[in-house]
Amino acid sequence: TEELLRKSDKLKVVGQLAAAVAHEIRNPLTALKGFVKLLQTQNANAKLPYLGIIQEELSRIEFISSELLVLAKPQVSRVADVDVREVLEQTIMLLATQAVMNNIEIRLGAGEEQAYISGDGNQLKQVFVNLLKNAIEASGPGCTIEVTIRLNEGELGIRFADQGCGMPEEMVKRLGEPFYTTKEKGTGLGYMVMRRIIEAHHGRLSISSRQGVGTSVEVILPVRMPDPSTQRVPAN
Ligand code: ADP
Ligand code: MG
Repeated sequence: TEELLRKSDKLKVVGQLAAAVAHEIRNPLTALKGFVKLLQTQNANAKLPYLGIIQEELSRIEFISSELLVLAKPQVSRVADVDVREVLEQTIMLLATQAVMNNIEIRLGAGEEQAYISGDGNQLKQVFVNLLKNAIEASGPGCTIEVTIRLNEGELGIRFADQGCGMPEEMVKRLGEPFYTTKEKGTGLGYMVMRRIIEAHHGRLSISSRQGVGTSVEVILPVRMPDPSTQRVPAN
C-alpha cells in the first residue's frame, strides 16, 4: 500500500502541475485571441502596437514551454567532465550586459582553479544563469554580487551572494513551488527547474536570506570521481 500511496501522491503532484501550467498558458492565449480579433477590425497603422503585444505573449508561452521541457528530461543527458569555473565565467559573460545596465557588479572570487564535476554542462549553466538572474533582479544599483567556488570534503560549493532585497523565511520555504513568483514578468519556474537539475547531479541547494540585507544561495555538488579507465598510464 505504501507504493500505491506514493503513486497517488505523484499523481496529485502531476495534477497540480498540469493545472498550474494550463492556467499560466491560458492567460496569454486568452489575450492573444482578443488581440487577433481586434486586428481584424483595424487599419494597417493601428495594427502595429497589437502586433508587439502579440509577439510578447507568444514569447512568454514559448519561454514557459522551454523551461518546462527541462523537467521532462529526468536524467542528466550528457555526462562529461565539467569545468565549473569555465561554466561560471560563461554565465557571467552572458549576464554582463544586464548587470552593467543596472549598475551591478559581479565578482568571481579566486581560488579552486581545479573545480570539476561530472554532469551536463548545459544544464549546470542553466542553474547558474537562473541564480545570477535572480540575484541581479533582486539587487539595486550599486550592489555587488559575489560568486565563489569552494571545495569542502569532496563537495564543490558554488555560492551566489547578493546584497538585494532578501526574502522572509516563508518565502524561502516556497521556492520550487511551480509558478511561485513575486515578479510581474517572472515565470516562477526557476527554482523548480534548478532543483530538478541539481537533484539529477546528486547535489543540493543551501539558501540563506535576510530581508533588506541580501541572499546567499549555494549549489553543492559532489566533485568528479576519478575514473580509473581514463587514468593515463605513462608511456614506458
Ligand atoms: P522567478 O525568478 O521567475 O520569479 P524563481 O523560481 O527564480 O522564479 O524565483 C521565485 C521567487 O523567489 C522570485 O520571484 C523572488 O521573489 C524570489 N527570489 C529568488 N531569488 C531571490 C534573490 N536572490 N533575492 C530575493 N528574492 C529572490
Ligand atoms: Mg528566476
